[in-house]
Order: sequence, then C-alpha cells, then structure tokens
Amino acid sequence: MKLVAEQVTVEYAASRHDRFRALDDVSFAVNSGELVAVAGPNGSGKTTLLRTLLGLELPKSGRVTLDERAVQEYTRRELAERIGALPQREEPAFPLMVGEAVLLGRWAHLGPIASVTAEDIRVMEDALRRCDVAGFEGRRVETLSGGEWQRVRIARALAGTPRLLLLDEPTAALDIAHEMALFDLLRQLVADGLGVLVITHHLNIAARYADRMVLLSGGRAVADGSPDAVLQPELVSQVFDWPVAVHYPVDGAPQIIPLKRNNS
Ligand code: ADP
Ligand code: MG
Repeated sequence: MKLVAEQVTVEYAASRHDRFRALDDVSFAVNSGELVAVAGPNGSGKTTLLRTLLGLELPKSGRVTLDERAVQEYTRRELAERIGALPQREEPAFPLMVGEAVLLGRWAHLGPIASVTAEDIRVMEDALRRCDVAGFEGRRVETLSGGEWQRVRIARALAGTPRLLLLDEPTAALDIAHEMALFDLLRQLVADGLGVLVITHHLNIAARYADRMVLLSGGRAVADGSPDAVLQPELVSQVFDWPVAVHYPVDGAPQIIPLKRNNS
C-alpha cells in the first residue's frame, strides 16, 4: 500500500483577505514496510501534511493518492479500514471505559448491526497488550494519566488493523521507557508489513528507528532521505534556527546535540 502526496500546496484563510500557505509544493510518500519520520519546527506544516494525506484538507494544487486512486474517492469507511490515524490532541471527553474506547477503533470492520464479536474483543485485547495497557479495559478513560491515555489512543488506532499508520507526535506525553517501547512496536509493525508515518520532535529517536526522515520548514519539504543524509548539522541548524552539533554515539545513527548559543 502506498500513500502519496504529489506537489501539494495547502492554504488556510489567515484573515478575511489573506491566505496563509501551510504547505508549499510538497511531495511525500509512505509505503508498506517502511517507517518514515516527519520533523520540523512548530508551525512548519507537519499536522497539515498528515491531515492532507487523510483527505481532511483539500489541496489548492497537487493531489494525494492511496494506491494510485485519489484519496477523496474513498469512502471514510474504506479509508478507516486501511489507515489508522492518531491526531495530535484529543481529550477523553466522554466517560467511556478503555475497552469501549479501543473498540471504537474497529468501527470500519463491524457488521451492519455493529455487534462486537469475539474476534473484535481479541483484537482489542491484543492492541492493549502491545501498548502496555493490558487489563485497563474496565478503567474509565478520564481517570487515566496523560501517558496511559496516549497509549490507549495508540491501541485504538491499532485495533482497526490498518495497513498504514499515521501518528502525530505520539510520544509527546510518554516517559523514556514507553517512548522507546512505542518505537520498538512501530518497528515490529513495519516488519509485519505496515507502513508508518510518525511526526515527532525527537530527532534522536527518529534517527535511530526511521528508514527515512523528512524535514519540513515553512511549509516546504527541505530534506527527504536516510537519517544520515538528512541530519546534517548545517541544515538542522538552519531549519530550527539554532546551532547544533551531530555525533554518532550509539547504533551508528546521527544524534543531534543543541549547542548553547553563547559558548558554542
Ligand atoms: P505543525 O504541525 O508543523 O506545528 P501545522 O500544520 O499545525 O504545523 O500548522 C502550520 C501553519 O498553519 C501554522 O502556522 C498554523 O497556525 C497554520 N494553521 C493550521 N491550521 C490552520 C487553520 N485551520 N486555519 C488557519 N491557519 C492554520
Ligand atoms: Mg502539529
């Protein structure tokens, strides 16, 4: 399965008279069997790219295709059967049990009367286990810690047994062990044939886990390649407007050290 954006430009209404270009001529692809990390400064267009790939923003020019067919031509259900998505922010608004919240991730697979089968329960429990929240089925979602809720949301995305997974800053609320465990899980899913796009500010973890990294800056894709090729000190310093050094202490992966501005 292949999700592709071709020369996509997306604009928002900035005011009544002005339009703001959030994505400018961006080409991007995520394929089955690869883990792609998207990074870039705040406001560089990362979330807009993810929303555009899901067909939630209509590009002014360019197009998005899933297996060569325009994403707008799929029904929401057809997309939900194929793509699992984790939005950047979401509060547990309704007092659901964790098990119910995760089963919502299976809606595209439920039959016409939407009855939950033994298979749905098995997939739900497996997703909870993989996200280290096994046994949380009976907890009310609004009683979870930020990190637990985040892992339940990831379990909900997995419960849809997607072929592609698009995650917007999934580890923002996680401690180091759960963050590393999540990236380990993403690698396992990729080994099982999924394609994964993960938006993250954690360049050093992305560099160790991703097959490919894409750097966005001011709505443009300024680099797309192996972590080694993308994480060049000059480019990273320029994109983030902060001096950095690059070292190779573990795993053979480039690791970014932000320098102190005054005694660098
Ligand atoms: P990122 O995820 O990289 O931080 P976003 O894609 O969320 O950035 O936003 C890119 C830019 O577009 C930001 O400047 C943001 O304020 C702007 N933007 C995002 N959504 C809208 C919207 N619905 N209307 C107007 N501007 C928006
Ligand atoms: Mg964002």
